[in-house]
Amino acid sequence: CGVFGVFAPEEDVATLTYFGLYALQHRGQESAGIATFDGDRVRLHKEMGLVSQVFSEPVLSKLTGTMAIGHTRYSTTGSSRVVNAQPAVVETRLGNLALAHNGNLVNAPDLREDLLKSNFTLLTTTDSEMIALAIAEEVNNGKGWLEGAISAFHRCQGAFSLTIGTPTGMMGVRDPNGIRPLVIGTLPQAKPTDSLRYVLASETCGLDIIGADYVRDVEPGELVWITEEGLASFHWTKETTPKLCIFEMIYFARPDSVMQAESLYSYRMRIGRRLAIESPIDADIVIAVPDSGIPAAIGYSQASGIPYAEGLIKNRYVGRTFIQPTQTMRESGIKMKLNPLKDVLAGKRVILVDDSIVRGTTSRKIVKALRDAGATEVHMRVSSPPVTHPCFYGIDTDNQDQLIAATKDVAEIADQIGVDSLSYLTWEGMLDETRHDPNNFCSACFTGDYPVPVPEPVKRSKLR
Ligand code: 5GP
Ligand code: SF4
Ligand code: MG
Repeated sequence: CGVFGVFAPEEDVATLTYFGLYALQHRGQESAGIATFDGDRVRLHKEMGLVSQVFSEPVLSKLTGTMAIGHTRYSTTGSSRVVNAQPAVVETRLGNLALAHNGNLVNAPDLREDLLKSNFTLLTTTDSEMIALAIAEEVNNGKGWLEGAISAFHRCQGAFSLTIGTPTGMMGVRDPNGIRPLVIGTLPQAKPTDSLRYVLASETCGLDIIGADYVRDVEPGELVWITEEGLASFHWTKETTPKLCIFEMIYFARPDSVMQAESLYSYRMRIGRRLAIESPIDADIVIAVPDSGIPAAIGYSQASGIPYAEGLIKNRYVGRTFIQPTQTMRESGIKMKLNPLKDVLAGKRVILVDDSIVRGTTSRKIVKALRDAGATEVHMRVSSPPVTHPCFYGIDTDNQDQLIAATKDVAEIADQIGVDSLSYLTWEGMLDETRHDPNNFCSACFTGDYPVPVPEPVKRSKLR
């Protein structure tokens, strides 16, 4: 999911949020929503669909206020229905709160039981509503916004990057491992008398689009509280261990977003170069599976000296296939999405670079399409290691039985997808090239080494 928040009393906060969500659209395409605060009054609009389908100028003009919270969703916990769209708005003793969540709680079933025991009615099936209700419960028991929210976060385990609106201020929060990203930006002051205007977004591309300056990341285990007085920072837990999702770096986040102090484009080019050094092969051209494989393919081409070419043209107006919820939709989605260029491919030995193989269904179809277009050899190079384990922290890489590398070795996968050769980036290569401490990342989908313990019943639901 994509989360966004803006505190800017002199601005049209709904329109800023609309554009912020537009830039975060790749993080979720099922539903979108914006909640604005005008003192105590909350205005909310959320629906199924893309940001551009959910909002129009008349809708935005009704979303008035001094602060806004926004969300784009793809489901990991809870079904794909409008009641599960976010932000979640909940009433408390101190007024309404609106919450947007990116991530996934591993203790959602327990938290749900607790809330039901406290006589809360759960309107949705999402863990995000549970976080909002847990805050409401703490607040209703007499705590203030900050104290109440912090108590609630201690009841949550797993991944949560949150933007939260309240009548008094806006919060930006990350879980103790900072599994999902969240950044802070400021809007330039139009007039010297303007108050400070803060922005929160899942990725820096959500700041760029509205002309906000990137300040820094919200840190793992940090809560930032933004009010008329400015930004106050609280470390709500001492038990922090950074474990940024490496899949954000490899695939999920936009290449123009900055993480770990550089654009992801740079990191993805570097892992492409690494892949060329680890797994060289003689061929005529290097092509990418667009768009996610492009930076690594360019890196592979640079390091190998084999020319880069465009061999597949993508219809940009078809969403990411993996976000569509059913297998049938996914299978038909691919044909609409990519078209091979016969003139480029005919008679050529092709190196095909992609960021990942998850189920193997996309790759198999693409390889067949390349051969139909006249490629004489197809060598696939993947800029991440084999995905062998499911994610419990908010990326929909599916149940283990759907993951091709969970049961097959590289030779068997090569056979199944129909390539002449197949190599993956090594796990060491992936982490080395971050140029940061490898312990600072979650890479559990490649190893099964989950940094936040997953309760057995939850684990069993996705493991084969
Ligand atoms: P596959 O060959 O596994 O069907 O698809 C791999 C391609 O689709 C890659 O280009 C990757 O970018 C994308 N992809 C498909 N499904 C998923 C998924 O569930 N998670 C992620 N991260 N990427 C996926
Ligand atoms: Fe990211 Fe994989 Fe960890 Fe999930 S398991 S948070 S996808 S690295
Ligand atoms: Mg891709």
